[in-house]
Amino acid sequence: MTKISKLTNLALLSAGLLTTSNLVFAQQFAIAIHGGAGTIKKENFTPEKEAAYRAKLEQATNAGYAILEAGGSSLDAINKAVNVLENSPLFNAGLGAVYTYDGAHELDASIMDGKTKNAGAVAGVKHIQNPINLARLVMTNSVHVMLSGAGAEEFALEQQIPLINNSHFDTERRYKALLKAKAKLKALKDKSKATKDYQANYKHWDQAYKMGTVGAVAVDKSGNVAAATSTGGMTAKRYGRIGDSPVIGAGTWADNQSCAVSATGHGEYFIRYNVASDICARVLYQGKSIEQASEEVIFGPMFKAGGTGGVIVVDPKGNVALTFNTKGMYRGSRVSGEMAKIAIFEK
Ligand code: ASP
Repeated sequence: MTKISKLTNLALLSAGLLTTSNLVFAQQFAIAIHGGAGTIKKENFTPEKEAAYRAKLEQATNAGYAILEAGGSSLDAINKAVNVLENSPLFNAGLGAVYTYDGAHELDASIMDGKTKNAGAVAGVKHIQNPINLARLVMTNSVHVMLSGAGAEEFALEQQIPLINNSHFDTERRYKALLKAKAKLKALKDKSKATKDYQANYKHWDQAYKMGTVGAVAVDKSGNVAAATSTGGMTAKRYGRIGDSPVIGAGTWADNQSCAVSATGHGEYFIRYNVASDICARVLYQGKSIEQASEEVIFGPMFKAGGTGGVIVVDPKGNVALTFNTKGMYRGSRVSGEMAKIAIFEK
């Protein structure tokens, strides 16, 4: 029982209005968000930079929380929180999306409703300002779950979502990251050509060139959970590459019977280990807590194989787990009756 419902029960008891048969069990609601995981170390942050990230994470957390508090749905709450992060150049989603090897931006997103297990996703879209909104329309207004590239964008036009220029996503910071990544990839390529160890190349790439994907999970006052993830993918990715973020089960999962998950990390591993739905399967079939299930998956065989990243998880009771195997994960959470908790680094 939450602190609030305990107080409510005490008040009703003392007023003589409550018997044990009509105890008030308020549904705890909660939201958690992430802005990517990776080599995020405090020593690389100026106080101003840290403050800017914290402020945006708090804004997104509170925007989603306000919807839940007013009785809105978990779907609306996560959609709103993700939009706040997509509209900020700080994160690798929407406005701050990274560059492909060829110097363009290709965005992926997905959303899932835990009540109905409906889901929607878009992959490799180049002209959509808020890919999560389009993913939601795929879920609600189409007979499909995932649309990609030009087909997704034609659907957007039918849904009155305007197409914008790909240069909308250009930022100097991400361009510099692309140049650095290309130089590093070239060196690794030469090395792996010599050693024929292409996996080593893959692992090094992982450490440096992902970060900033955004996501949100929430449970509303009706106990319905939902999850959403939006990303620009990985810096210097091959054009046409699709990561885990739009893959239902890998990057995003929601089921009222277990939990809701949004992931961030090296997508190739998250797809192969089916991370998001594996966590909820452990909750559903093995009765594990979301904390235990997420630790098993994030620090389990995937991590040993070289897969780095993290997840945010909520369950229908309002429990929250924020788990990552990297140096940091931009994150925020807020449970009913409490203030928002924002964090970036390991501790
Ligand atoms: N998972 C994303 C991808 O592989 C990247 C990230 O989360 O930073 O596309």
